[in-house]
Amino acid sequence: MRAVLTIDLHAIRANYRTLKVQAPRAEVAAVLKADGYGLGCGPIADALIGEGCRSFFVATAEEALSLRSKRKGIRIHLLNGPDEQAAPALAAKKVTPVLNSPAQIGLWAKTAKTLGQRLPAALHLDTGMCRLGLSEREQSALDLDHMDAIGIDLIMSHLACADEPGHDLNQEQHQAFLQRSGSWPGQRLSLANSAGIFLSCSFHFDLVRPGIALFGGNPIPEHPNPMSGVVTISAPILQIHQVTKAGSVGYGASYRTKPGMRIATLGIGYADGVLRQASNRATATLRDWPVPFAGRVSMDLIGVDVTDVPETVLAQTNEVTLLAGDDGIDRMAAAANTIPYEVLTRLGPRLERRYVNGAASA
Ligand SMILES: *Cc1c(COP(=O)(O)O)cnc(C)c1O
Repeated sequence: MRAVLTIDLHAIRANYRTLKVQAPRAEVAAVLKADGYGLGCGPIADALIGEGCRSFFVATAEEALSLRSKRKGIRIHLLNGPDEQAAPALAAKKVTPVLNSPAQIGLWAKTAKTLGQRLPAALHLDTGMCRLGLSEREQSALDLDHMDAIGIDLIMSHLACADEPGHDLNQEQHQAFLQRSGSWPGQRLSLANSAGIFLSCSFHFDLVRPGIALFGGNPIPEHPNPMSGVVTISAPILQIHQVTKAGSVGYGASYRTKPGMRIATLGIGYADGVLRQASNRATATLRDWPVPFAGRVSMDLIGVDVTDVPETVLAQTNEVTLLAGDDGIDRMAAAANTIPYEVLTRLGPRLERRYVNGAASA
């Protein structure tokens, strides 16, 4: 009896279509770094290719090369940029690196000259996040000889506060991006992640780069989620305790029990990526009954309070569901004091991954 992570490819495709409606004039790419936010880059890429998605972004060279394997006709952007070791393989496999620094531009230009061909790349301008990308000073000091060896196919930047629509930095970054990308007139531009798509259409430019929204994360906090839930976990019930005298559940004895309560022990824990911070705070479901986490999340086990579930329902069920529904990952994130990105990317290899609704159709 193993905990199973079910990934609904139909919901991912529906989310992709929702984003296309939201950004009708832009190309909608897909960001599949960290193995598709922990859900499996390959099957998700193939589902999105079936929806017409042709541009993908990943973080590392390994991710880029593994996504490329046997997939032609798609553009793969490598967000972290090339390094000396990976550059020849990236060029051979037609991966388009994002060049973030003068050093990466120099390296990619050298690779191009060695091969005697112009190599495409995206250029990242840092407009206020101070993470990756060229500063204004670096941009004005670009080595023109290097730039000649590179075929720029996209100018991009990244928003620091897109999930806070009222934050001043959004407009500041937008202004800076408009102004600085003006050095490449007519070039394709990209600024928005999932939340950026919902700020306003002036943030869409030519290409948008959603990640979390494809996987059901709410891109507009404080508003109803326009995206569909993609994941559910079913965890086996290993044992049910009928409490006969007052006591407690789990390490640290943090959940108190009274006679008459029922506690179910689930075969899933923080080693599977259920965040320990969610101890005593998250709620799972048994059929349609909410069952609150009871006690600390252990490595391989979690207690849930099933007192309110009728005996007849308990007798018919041997599993409990986590993360289900359109707000499942956002609610778990809130319970664990984190973001849905972490909820997804922590999901561990011990969970069996099952893909459903894989056939490419509406
Ligand atoms: C991760 C990432 C994205 C996608 O962000 P979401 O918030 O998941 O939509 C887009 N652009 C860059 C540069 C990123 O690093």
